[in-house]
Amino acid sequence: MDTRRLGGCQCGAVRYEVWGEPSHETLCHCTVCRRVSAAPVVAWFSVAPEAFSVTQGEPKRFHSSAHAVRSFCGECGTPLTYQRHGVHEVDVTICSLDEPEAVPPRDHTFVRSALAWGAVEDGLPRYLALRDG
Ligand SMILES: [Zn+2]
Ligand SMILES: [Zn+2]
Repeated sequence: MDTRRLGGCQCGAVRYEVWGEPSHETLCHCTVCRRVSAAPVVAWFSVAPEAFSVTQGEPKRFHSSAHAVRSFCGECGTPLTYQRHGVHEVDVTICSLDEPEAVPPRDHTFVRSALAWGAVEDGLPRYLALRDG
């Protein structure tokens, strides 16, 4: 009874599918997410790497730090994934899903970097950096 979710970039050059249930749905306020997306906060969910596959196109990849690789559409720039070395998990941008309403964030992470004017007061738990536990 695996759920399949579809997503892709704004221009349609890159399409992907994700199987199974998302985890770690979050709104990340970190400075890297902010800069690469040019947005105050980025919504992410996580799945096992084998549950994520690109079905069309080839995302561009770059090291956003020594520890992690991000991918995005080289044609239109949509941020797609984040993968930290040594972690069996890929993070996918919720808003690149065709149905982002289906995967609501459950918390805020890296609130220590949050912009003063970027506050989203939704009552969800807020963690200064990574979520506890
Ligand atoms: Zn694109
Ligand atoms: Zn982040």
